[in-house]
Amino acid sequence: MNVFEKIIKGDLPCKKVLENEQFLAFYDIAPKAPIHVLAIPKQSFKDFNEMPKELLAEMSVFILEVVEVLGIKESGYRLITNIGADGGQEVPHFHYHILGGGKLNWEKLVK
Ligand code: AMP
Repeated sequence: MNVFEKIIKGDLPCKKVLENEQFLAFYDIAPKAPIHVLAIPKQSFKDFNEMPKELLAEMSVFILEVVEVLGIKESGYRLITNIGADGGQEVPHFHYHILGGGKLNWEKLVK
C-alpha cells in the first residue's frame, strides 16, 4: 500500500484541507511553495493517464473548492501533476499539486 492509500485509510495522519466522498486535499509534507496542497481521488489510479474523464471533471470542481478554502483562487496558483519517469512521479496514486501563496518561479525544467 502506498503512502496516499494509507492516508485515505486513516493509517497515516495528514493535515486535511477539504474532503468529500470522492476526494481528499491535504498539505504536502515537504512544501515547495508557501502553500502546497495535494488533491487525490479516494479511488486508486496510478496517474493522470489512468484517470476516468468523468472523475477528472468532478475533481476539477473539488479543486476549485479547495483553492477557495485556501484563499488563493483570485491571487493565483499552479496545478501540477507528475506522470511517469520523466515527470518525476514518486507516489503511484494520482494527485494534483496545488501551489500558491506567492509569486511562483517558472524556469527551465530540463537542464
Ligand atoms: P510526486 O513526486 O508528484 O509523486 O509527489 C509526491 C508528493 O507527496 C511529494 O511532494 C511529497 O512531499 C508528498 N508526500 C509524500 N509523503 C507524504 C505524506 N505522508 N504527507 C503529505 N505529503 C507527502
